[in-house]
Amino acid sequence: MPALYQVISAIHYRAYQCKKCEQMNYKLDRGWVSPARHLPSPNFGSRPKNEVVSLLVLHNISLPPGCFDGNAVERFFTNTLDFDEHPWYENIRGVQVSAHLFVRRDGELVQFVSLNERAWHAGRSHFDGRDECNDFSIGIEIEGTDDLPYTDAQYVTLGALCAFLQTAYPHINDGRIVGHSDIAPGRKTDPGDAFEWSKFRRFVQDNKKNSV
Ligand SMILES: [Zn+2]
Repeated sequence: MPALYQVISAIHYRAYQCKKCEQMNYKLDRGWVSPARHLPSPNFGSRPKNEVVSLLVLHNISLPPGCFDGNAVERFFTNTLDFDEHPWYENIRGVQVSAHLFVRRDGELVQFVSLNERAWHAGRSHFDGRDECNDFSIGIEIEGTDDLPYTDAQYVTLGALCAFLQTAYPHINDGRIVGHSDIAPGRKTDPGDAFEWSKFRRFVQDNKKNSV
């Protein structure tokens, strides 16, 4: 027999599930996506009051760069990385950042920050007349580098995920899915030349079609 609070929260949860989103097999509960492995990071703040999430920013990261073994990125985003572990980590010693979501090489989805909160991924940035893109964006890190091809598994996950997020956050139209390099030109280059935007957009569109 479930406890009363479980029944109430189940009803509450169902009431807010959009039909279309359900068909995409993703769900949102207080800004947490499932299915995703949840690894809460302390690196976040509140979005400005009444802010509308209207931008999706794609990044890349791997630690050390080009190394896809282990879980250094996950430890970096949760402030548990030992910066003495590798000489390259001198470049990021003490840095506290995060992203909402992380797509690993095998397509696994990891979430660090609720989409309701402001993750620290964009830094100094500008889009469509506004600074501080962290205020109104969702940040997705793709495990990789600017010049190594991303995996098909990553495009599959990104396609389904971004189609779902566009449905859940209708202000994120196709023109508002951008790279970090688009909102911080001259300072950032990710997701880089290796990211095939046309392939990515095809995967997103296919997911939208399949959900109708
Ligand atoms: Zn970035």
